[in-house]
Amino acid sequence: MEKNGFNFQLSENQVMIADMIRRYGEAYIRPVVMKYDESQEFPMDILRDLGEMGLMGVLVPEEYGGSGFGYHEYVTVVSEIGKFCGGIGLSVAAHNSLCTGHILKFGSEAQKRKYLPKLATAEWIGAWGLTEANTGSDAGNMSTTAVSDGEYWVLNGTKNFITHGKSGQLAVIIARTGNPRTKNNATAFIVEKGTKGFRHGKKENKLGMRASETTELIFEDCRLHKSQMIGEVGQGFKQALGVLDGGRVSIAALSLGIAKGAYEAALNYAQERRQFDQPIFNFQAIQFKLVDMATRIEASELLTYQAADYISKKLAAGQKSAMAKLYASETAVYVANEAVQIYGGYGYIKDFPVEKYYRDAKLCTIGEGTSEIQKLVIARSLLK
Ligand SMILES: Cc1cc2nc3c(=O)[nH]c(=O)nc-3n(C[C@H](O)[C@H](O)[C@H](O)COP(=O)(O)OP(=O)(O)OC[C@H]3O[C@@H](n4cnc5c(N)ncnc54)[C@H](O)[C@@H]3O)c2cc1C
Repeated sequence: MEKNGFNFQLSENQVMIADMIRRYGEAYIRPVVMKYDESQEFPMDILRDLGEMGLMGVLVPEEYGGSGFGYHEYVTVVSEIGKFCGGIGLSVAAHNSLCTGHILKFGSEAQKRKYLPKLATAEWIGAWGLTEANTGSDAGNMSTTAVSDGEYWVLNGTKNFITHGKSGQLAVIIARTGNPRTKNNATAFIVEKGTKGFRHGKKENKLGMRASETTELIFEDCRLHKSQMIGEVGQGFKQALGVLDGGRVSIAALSLGIAKGAYEAALNYAQERRQFDQPIFNFQAIQFKLVDMATRIEASELLTYQAADYISKKLAAGQKSAMAKLYASETAVYVANEAVQIYGGYGYIKDFPVEKYYRDAKLCTIGEGTSEIQKLVIARSLLK
């Protein structure tokens, strides 16, 4: 939003970033998308390249080795990558806004100097662990504990569904330091790979987002020096909610990218595919699908940039980011579904791109708070 009204144009930086990603994506992501999807191998080389391009520390100030961009540019980064591959987009989003974002927002100066330069260049990949097997939406009721022992904290428990749990060199972990179901009962810690008592567990075999690695993280009497604690004791859950406000914009941006990718593929296909001696685009039934897809994408984009704008201006962004995440993720599922329909039988075949968008899109209505949880957040905000 500009001083004299709304600004709907991309900035020069956003145009430059989008061009750079399009060029890189066409040359290096599109050709290998199905390879990574089928093997579920984590595309470390691509993430390192994106690090060199400044896209793994988008929001990190230059003094810590990042690109020093704001949330508008960040939305452009995640959505443009998401057009090529939802899984790579998810990894970029989780790395930037969860692990790196948590240290950037709440870490001490020493923690920022130590970790941000490595994360911003993708020399190290970051993970962020809140979810557990029995506590997803109800994350505040977690079982992983951290108990104080002199100069150390001792962590025990298992985190579930953690992006980059295996390939990450660093994880920010939220553990319970107070009694269950009490206020301010969790604290955040930074854990380096190789710390005794810390290892990854099972790697999940997923429906979509298969290039993005998802594993358990296991803590068995894992001793962390007090210097690894982020902020104050008892602030971990509050910090996590702050991180998720930004995280939800990430998933909204990712949803936008997946929806645009599916829509662009369907629009092209509708002009190429001929039935009854004409392109199927000529049928009003197909045109109306494309119209609804395009309109919902535009609405998602506006909501997502609105949320980014609120965060950039340090305005209360909880409601806006929940609305953007809810609407954009449901739109991605809707658009990918319609894209498969427009492709007909070919939409169901792995030689064509839309079945992957369809599988990838579904994560967006679940990860970083399900659609139902976004509605709870929005409902609470209506009464304020
Ligand atoms: C690929 C992937 C990557 C992920 N990456 C990470 C990560 O890096 N770090 C991390 O910490 N987590 C991560 N997650 C976890 C993710 O955030 C959770 O899966 C999500 O929050 C939902 O939790 P859950 O799966 O336990 O579902 P549940 O909480 O068990 O929900 C099940 C159903 O019940 C509904 N429900 C639950 N509570 C309510 C309620 N109060 N009112 C109405 N409906 C409700 C939900 O909406 C859902 O439909 C990831 C998950 C996936 C699949």
